[in-house]
Amino acid sequence: PSPSNLDVTLQVQVIPFGASQKLILARDVTRVVQLEQMRRTFVANASHELRTPLTVLSGYLETLHGMEAELPESLRQHFATMHEQATRMQRLVNDLLTLSRLETAPRTREEPVDVPALLAGLREQAELLSAGNHAITLEAQPDLSLLGSRDELHSAFSNLVNNAVRHTAKGGAIRLRWVADREGAKFSVEDTGEGIAPEHIPHLTERFYRVDTARSRASGGTGLGLSIVKHVLLRHDAELRIASELGQGSVFTCVFPGSRVIRAEIPARATPA
Ligand code: ADP
Repeated sequence: PSPSNLDVTLQVQVIPFGASQKLILARDVTRVVQLEQMRRTFVANASHELRTPLTVLSGYLETLHGMEAELPESLRQHFATMHEQATRMQRLVNDLLTLSRLETAPRTREEPVDVPALLAGLREQAELLSAGNHAITLEAQPDLSLLGSRDELHSAFSNLVNNAVRHTAKGGAIRLRWVADREGAKFSVEDTGEGIAPEHIPHLTERFYRVDTARSRASGGTGLGLSIVKHVLLRHDAELRIASELGQGSVFTCVFPGSRVIRAEIPARATPA
């Protein structure tokens, strides 16, 4: 065989057998691993290639946006749809690229991340998205921070916060909490929104899984948000817990282990905006 054919991936299982014997099962998963690698490379390349023409298209649409008033009434609606769909496609491609990077990039550089400051910024973003329709509160322990990637954590936390806003009706409440307990540090997003039926919960972090596809699309969702959250948390040795009750609301909690926690306020210059 050629040297590349010598790369074999085995999945090994050791099973105690009888008093002092062990049974070793080895399964050749080379092909599975190769196919997974091909899938990742394909998605990364496809999203990368789509980005440039899409940027050009959106650029022109943006220019035309200012001239909308000059268009005949019959074309205005078509134009608005084109603009909306191009924006959606850009969001989708960006999310696909983010996800590919999370899956393929080597471990992230670990820096002290000022989580309370990051959350204060996210709360402001949420207020903008909510446009005054929700009561949004933030409770954050000021001396509690993390060792990790600021960009990745921002991406994960903002997905959770945006989801809460998008899935909670006008007049609802959204509560952001960042606290430490015996298990480690926890960031939770609690909403009084539509909630999720129990059978959907185990699938929510799968790519493109949506409880209500049409509704999710209409509210600007790509179906990739919670996959991004899952991958970011994996890269930070953290775990995502989801508790929800249909019609009552949901709580999404990110649990970070003590080894990632920094118990000190981080000087502002250590985490540039
Ligand atoms: P999307 O872009 O569709 O929101 P996500 O991966 O972020 O994709 O979420 C997957 C699905 O999980 C959503 O389509 C929605 O049905 C459900 N979901 C996520 N967050 C919430 C929430 N806070 N309340 C109710 N449902 C939610």
